[in-house]
Amino acid sequence: MTAVTTVTGPRKYTRVDSFQTHGISRGLIVVSRSMGNALLIGQERIAETLSASVAANRVAHAYLFYGPEGSGKKAASLQLAAALLCEHPAEGVACDTCNTCSRVFSVGHPDVHLMMPYPKDTGIEAVRERLRLLAENPYAVVDFERRPSLDSMEAVSNKQVVYVRDRIAQDLRREMSLSSVEGGFRIAIITDADRMRVEAANAFLKLLEEPGDRTVFILTSDRPDRMLSTIRSRCQLIRFSRLSDEEISSALFERIQLDESVSRTVARMADGSFSRALDLASSDELFSLRTLVIEYFRASYKSDSEQVTNYAERLNRMGRETLKFFLQLMLSWLRDLLLYKIVGDEAPIVNLDQTVEIERFCKNLPTARLESMVELVEEASILVERNMNLRLTFIVLAQTLGQAMKGEVVNGLVASLSDEPLLV
Ligand SMILES: [Zn+2]
Repeated sequence: MTAVTTVTGPRKYTRVDSFQTHGISRGLIVVSRSMGNALLIGQERIAETLSASVAANRVAHAYLFYGPEGSGKKAASLQLAAALLCEHPAEGVACDTCNTCSRVFSVGHPDVHLMMPYPKDTGIEAVRERLRLLAENPYAVVDFERRPSLDSMEAVSNKQVVYVRDRIAQDLRREMSLSSVEGGFRIAIITDADRMRVEAANAFLKLLEEPGDRTVFILTSDRPDRMLSTIRSRCQLIRFSRLSDEEISSALFERIQLDESVSRTVARMADGSFSRALDLASSDELFSLRTLVIEYFRASYKSDSEQVTNYAERLNRMGRETLKFFLQLMLSWLRDLLLYKIVGDEAPIVNLDQTVEIERFCKNLPTARLESMVELVEEASILVERNMNLRLTFIVLAQTLGQAMKGEVVNGLVASLSDEPLLV
């Protein structure tokens, strides 16, 4: 995947290598971030609720921001912290420009304690670097669980990413028992709070049970069901919902100046998560993989065994995560075909820049068994997950897809695979 070069500072520049697909070309993508309110995408109702409580001085002792990944929980946490400490707040909203606000957004404020879980052997500098990136862009995927290496989107973690007891019972307790350095609130933002081990969770429960004066805990979680119910019940619960495609695409356009039609495509693929959208947008493989999907379908239809073998070998050399993504893109294309077949021109398709190919497919292959094709690709995803012979999987997938495209009845991928003489 793309090597993303980040230059920290008041503006963040993310370089994405240029590429060209279907007339779309991109060079330098500039990621700029304005602070405060501009941080949170959508979620207006939540922003209003929070600023109203800040303005009325009715702030809860503990909040739990929960909801899907990439919906803005961390952004809202930082925004709330800034609003609580800002030198010139207006109606409970941070000014974004004062010295205090900028220190909150650069993890430089002594009264804001931002935390993330990490594997046991992690150095403190590595944690600090990620916290800085998180505060800079709270939608960026920088946690140790999903992004064990910041240099690669492919790396997979096999380490336990947790809060151990001492971090809660000692570090956090000490931080929150100190009196405020600057005379205001002391705030702890505990991201991925469901990652507390039992002993850590119990220690945290104790902290919640003895609320200090002017302290605020803000917990975020994608999986609140994994938290102690006794912790949940002591927090004010704020539920974040998935972002709409429009919210994501306009944020992509505004924040990283991504081409509008590409933004719309990426937004639909991001499934309500701006974090996922950013990952997709910064992946230069996205566009080459999408082209590969169409080429692979074409080779499957032609049943040209030499071409199919070449594609299978090419796919075989890719990482497992990339292959899963490739199959996901195939599914998104097939869903578009199904939608287009039923609804026609008005279909809300995802691959907007490939509308011509989608139209052509539906016109030229009216008898294609699209539902069977979806099932075949879903089966292939399972086989990829199970470490099957990948080269063979993609050869047989192409053969069976070719049959389904011609309207023939297919028995499923596993059945066809077991017919393969190569397996005997
Ligand atoms: Zn301010």
